Amino acid sequence: MKYVLVTGGVVSGLGKGVTASSIGVVLKACGLRVTSIKIDPYLNTDAGTMSPFEHGEVFVLDDGGEVDLDLGNYERFLDVRLTRDNNITTGKIYQVVPHITEAIQNWIEKVSVIPVDGKEGPADVCVIELGGTVGDIESMPFIEALRQLLFSVGSILFFSSNKTKPTQHSVRELRALGLTPHFLACRSAEPLLENTRQKLSQFCHVPVNNILNIHDVPNIWHIPLLLRNQNAHDAILKHLDLLSVAKAPNLQ
Ligand code: ADP
Repeated sequence: MKYVLVTGGVVSGLGKGVTASSIGVVLKACGLRVTSIKIDPYLNTDAGTMSPFEHGEVFVLDDGGEVDLDLGNYERFLDVRLTRDNNITTGKIYQVVPHITEAIQNWIEKVSVIPVDGKEGPADVCVIELGGTVGDIESMPFIEALRQLLFSVGSILFFSSNKTKPTQHSVRELRALGLTPHFLACRSAEPLLENTRQKLSQFCHVPVNNILNIHDVPNIWHIPLLLRNQNAHDAILKHLDLLSVAKAPNLQ
């Protein structure tokens, strides 16, 4: 099992969730089987136990799990059926055992091999989205668990804005916690200028070919195409050492 961790900094609501789904779509278009996990580091067991004023709308899974709307995006983008266990919250982990980082790793390893696309056997890649922003105190056990888990089997994609300074600072903060991003996805209104791309690469210490740009599009179904046009699949597959099992992406 290989993992792609999508985490973010600066501010929430920029499009980390749809970008994580879209990365799954391009990997799936390369012939890989993809599953996903969303981590919400709050103490409630699930979104259904939170005030709708605080959480907003919930998405209800086939097994009755009440989860974040991102899980709905994963199901629609990837054509999979997820379960309540594909959404990890701090509340669910604390119900299990006190060795929290170990419990998080065990949970991810157990859930990522459960088929969600109607086929037999485990997926090739699990896209994990860690909600919140870097440095959030409630995310710390997840950051530490993911640092240990992804050491040799994962790519880390940091989702940010196109602002070089805040991006540089939040990448530095992530590094201080032991996670080094291999990819940077920058959300912007307009396509990224070449010199901003160079600056981001230099300041954040991420190869320029691994800087992806998610600019505004008329609807979110364009985002997988945006990623394909930037050869994100090649860069990610190469990093995960999966190029030999993948084919050219088939996206309309
Ligand atoms: P986050 O996970 O960062 O909180 P979401 O993935 O939920 O953010 O996206 C926030 C909103 O931004 C959604 O309504 C989504 O449709 C919209 N959005 C994301 N990326 C784009 C884009 N490139 N162009 C236009 N709208 C986008």
